[in-house]
Amino acid sequence: MEIVLSGIRSTGNLHLGNYFGALKNFVEMQHENKCYFFIADYHSLTTHPTPHDLHGSVKQVFIEYLACGLDPDVATLYRQSDVPETAELYLLLNMNAYLGELERCTSFKEKIKQQQNNINAGLLTYPVLMAADILIHKSHKVPVGKDQEQHLEMTRNFANRFNRLYKVDYFPEPAAYNFGKDLVKIPGLDGTGKMGKTEGNGIFLIDSAEDIRKKVMRAVTDSGPVHPNQEMPEAITNLFTIMNAVSSADTVQFFLDKYNQCEIRYGDMKKQLAEDIIEFTSPFREKILDLSKNDAYLRKVVNEGAQKARESAAKTIKEVREIIGFKNL
Ligand code: AMP
Repeated sequence: MEIVLSGIRSTGNLHLGNYFGALKNFVEMQHENKCYFFIADYHSLTTHPTPHDLHGSVKQVFIEYLACGLDPDVATLYRQSDVPETAELYLLLNMNAYLGELERCTSFKEKIKQQQNNINAGLLTYPVLMAADILIHKSHKVPVGKDQEQHLEMTRNFANRFNRLYKVDYFPEPAAYNFGKDLVKIPGLDGTGKMGKTEGNGIFLIDSAEDIRKKVMRAVTDSGPVHPNQEMPEAITNLFTIMNAVSSADTVQFFLDKYNQCEIRYGDMKKQLAEDIIEFTSPFREKILDLSKNDAYLRKVVNEGAQKARESAAKTIKEVREIIGFKNL
């Protein structure tokens, strides 16, 4: 069985884009692979050294991932900071990571422009910590977006370098996990681009029915088609893309026919879309609210996750120490 590892950011609520672009796939793949999902709270300090409420944010992320269907009995769900073995591997990998390659990293170059008065060593060595996260479980596959491909390439370099330097065949070469054709991009409701947390155009799983109705009714549209089968502008295509994700095929076809016959009433389409989104998200919202009240269960899940992750990590660190030469006297 392949070992798959995925990092999760430590703040922010999940929106429909996150669900269809990531979570839905995670929930499916946890049954076919040995999966580790971790919340990257160490990493968050590279950009937010004094977080307002690290504990609260991490708890909320944990809750929302559980609500989406990550099953702690099937996969290992843990906080990065609960596995200090990761920090030790990071230290050891840092000894063989070179300044030049770290400085050339695209994300480092972008980050130092964004935070010119906090160019810390953690930013520079971000890819080493990511490599430690991946290699600590000797992972084979990592689901990554385009922006993370360079980091994964660096992880392969660090893994191969370790194997070469210490003349072992120890770390596997992690590859990108490809979701293939199932990967959908959910657009925003503002007529352009994708739904995202920084774009301020998200419909969140935790949103109330009232909020969802308001957001959808405000979605950008136009004055409607004037010729049958007229090409669709981006804003309208976006509405159909979201509808495709949450509504029945019949509903989508109904509005598509109306569009093609120049009879579409966007107000009706938005009302239907809002109700279908509400129907889709409300089970998630209910689970999120239920879990939020169940601290005892959450504590159990977090502790068990940490224990499982540490078992795997401790084995790797023990072996790595022996390979390098840190042996018991
Ligand atoms: P982010 O919220 O940007 O940290 O993204 C977390 C994960 O959700 C990544 O794997 C993204 O590929 C995925 N994701 C974020 N926004 C969207 C979107 N609008 N459509 C599809 N996937 C998305």
